[in-house]
Amino acid sequence: MSKFWSPFVKDLVPYVPGEQPKLAKLVKMNTNENPYGPSPKAVAAMQAEVGDNLRLYPDPNSDRLKQAVAEYYGVQPAQVFVGNGSDEVLAHAFHGLFQHGQPLLFPDVTYSFYPVYCGLYGIPFEALPLDEQFQIRVEDYARPNGGIIFPNPNAPTGCLLALEAIERLLQANPDTVVLVDEAYIDFGGQSAIALVDRYPNLLVAQTLSKSRSLAGLRVGLAVGHPDLIEALERIKNSFNSYPLDRMAIAGAAAAFEDRAYFEETCRKVIDSREQVVVELGKLGFDVLPSAANFVFARHPQKDAAGIAAGLREQGVIVRHFKQERIAQFLRITIGTPEQNQALLDALGTL
Ligand code: PMP
Repeated sequence: MSKFWSPFVKDLVPYVPGEQPKLAKLVKMNTNENPYGPSPKAVAAMQAEVGDNLRLYPDPNSDRLKQAVAEYYGVQPAQVFVGNGSDEVLAHAFHGLFQHGQPLLFPDVTYSFYPVYCGLYGIPFEALPLDEQFQIRVEDYARPNGGIIFPNPNAPTGCLLALEAIERLLQANPDTVVLVDEAYIDFGGQSAIALVDRYPNLLVAQTLSKSRSLAGLRVGLAVGHPDLIEALERIKNSFNSYPLDRMAIAGAAAAFEDRAYFEETCRKVIDSREQVVVELGKLGFDVLPSAANFVFARHPQKDAAGIAAGLREQGVIVRHFKQERIAQFLRITIGTPEQNQALLDALGTL
C-alpha cells in the first residue's frame, strides 16, 4: 500500500485465476478450457490477418464479428456487443448497468469475479444461498435490487436453471437488468438469447473461450436490447475504443460461421462428460448434474484438498475451492478421452 493510491484501491481483493502451469506435461483439468483446438477455419482466418494487414487499426466496431453473432442467433447486429473476453464484457456491464445504489443480487456459490467487480466499482451486493440441490432459488430474487447476475449453467457447480425459471425472474424484476452469464451454455443448456426480444431488461453474456476453444484469443460478447448494448458501447468507447484486434475479429467471426466444427466438438465434450460422470460414480463420487464442460464432484469419505494434491503428484490438475459450502468438491474440466482416462486412473490409486 502507498500514499499514492486512490483510497478504494486498498480494499480491492483482486480475482485470482486458475493456475496456468508452466509444465507442459500436466493433464490440465483446472480452468475449463476446451481440450480440442479451435476451428481450422478460424485458425486460417487469423493467419490471413498476420502480415501487412497489421499495419492498420482494426475495425473499432468489430462489425464482421457482430454480424456473424447476429446471424447465428437471429438477432440484429445492434443487439450485439463484443469485448476482450467475457470478463471485460462483464466489467462494462457492472460499470454501466448496475450502479443504482441498491445491492446487486447473485448466488452464493457463483463465479468469484462478481464480488471483485463490485469492489472495483463500489457496487453493494447480496449473495443469496443456493438451495440444498445447489440450485438458484428464483423466489429469493424478488426483492429490491440494483441488478441480478448469475452464470447459467452456474459456476463452479455446472447446474442449469431452466429458461422458464429465468422468465419468472425477468418478470419479477422488470425495472432492473438481469445478466445471464452463459460462459458454458453450449454444453447442454438453451440460451436465454431466445428471450431478448421480449425482455428489454435481459442481457446475455457469452465467451468464445470454452465451446469455441479460443480462450487464448480473449473474445466475449453480450446480446440484449439495443439500449443496453449502447450503454456498453459508451463505456467501451470511453475506455478502449479498439477492444478487439484484427486477428480476434477475424478468428472469432470464422469460429461462429463454422457451425459444423463447433457442434462436433461440443458433442464430443458432452459425450465424454456423461462417461466421466458414470466412472466417477463407480469410484464413489457424488457428481452434481452438469450442463457444462466440467463436473463438480465430491467423495463422501475422502478429503477434496487431499485428492487434488494426490492428483497433482500424478500430473493431473483439477480445481479445489476453499469456500466452506463447496470445500468438499472438486471441479474437474472434461478433457479428451485419453485425459479423462488419466484422471480416472489416478483417482483409482488415491
Ligand atoms: N463467466 C464465467 C462463469 C466463467 O467461468 C468464466 C471463465 N473463467 C468467464 C465468465 C470468463 O471467460 P472469458 O473472460 O475467458 O471470456
